[in-house]
Amino acid sequence: MTWRSFFRDLKYIVAGGASFAAIDGLFGLASIRLNAGHVGPITTWPMHLSVPAALLVVEFLNYWQHRWSHELSGNFGSFLWKSHAAHHLPEQVYVLMHPASHPINGFIVRALVTLLPLYYLGASPETVLLFSTVITFQALISHGNVDIHTGWVNYLFVGTELHRFHHSSNLAESKNYAVTLSFLDIIFGTFCYRPGSLPKRLGVVDPRAYPKSNEFWKVMKLPFEGEFQPRTKLAGLKHRSEILNFFRNLHEIFRLDE
Ligand SMILES: [Zn+2]
Ligand SMILES: [Zn+2]
Repeated sequence: MTWRSFFRDLKYIVAGGASFAAIDGLFGLASIRLNAGHVGPITTWPMHLSVPAALLVVEFLNYWQHRWSHELSGNFGSFLWKSHAAHHLPEQVYVLMHPASHPINGFIVRALVTLLPLYYLGASPETVLLFSTVITFQALISHGNVDIHTGWVNYLFVGTELHRFHHSSNLAESKNYAVTLSFLDIIFGTFCYRPGSLPKRLGVVDPRAYPKSNEFWKVMKLPFEGEFQPRTKLAGLKHRSEILNFFRNLHEIFRLDE
């Protein structure tokens, strides 16, 4: 990170951070009111079970919204990608970049796939607090511009070694859609781990087609204009069958256990 790139991305950090904070605050308050007396499946679980359960559910949803933001075709896919692209425009990955995102993307990630499921699961305030601490800390670690080698831990959690490849401009290696739990990428076949090697270039495939990451208002208007298609185009149908297969396999595993 240089001072120049820091000031260039500061606007996104503020826009992303402010919208995340506003959405968190709003939904946090709403969920405190709604949760008063609200009981869900995990409300009475001890913390050592409720936190991993919440993490698994939220991560599963987040994995798919993130993957769809990159791979879904059609108007909806294009809209998702254009609101996520702000996070991929900078050509550096560093510790403050995680909140560098479009407010629409912030809303999808924080409200739709995090706070809403936590509410329906009936997560207690303590569970939400510990859950939030874990994902915030992990998000900071995964965007660190430092060389940390964590070996086998990469098969469980996303760190810098994996997330750097997600920011690669090379589509063959820009996988790793999971935000916290990397084994979701292993399960769904999007895991890219190359110990000791680094992506050649970070950012989008064709930077000239996009606004520059310092053109703040153009980036903010991006979701509402242009013909930008996701980086790879996979039909929604393929995703549906992958998810169905996943649940079929899960069902098989639990049936065998009975
Ligand atoms: Zn992404
Ligand atoms: Zn990232």
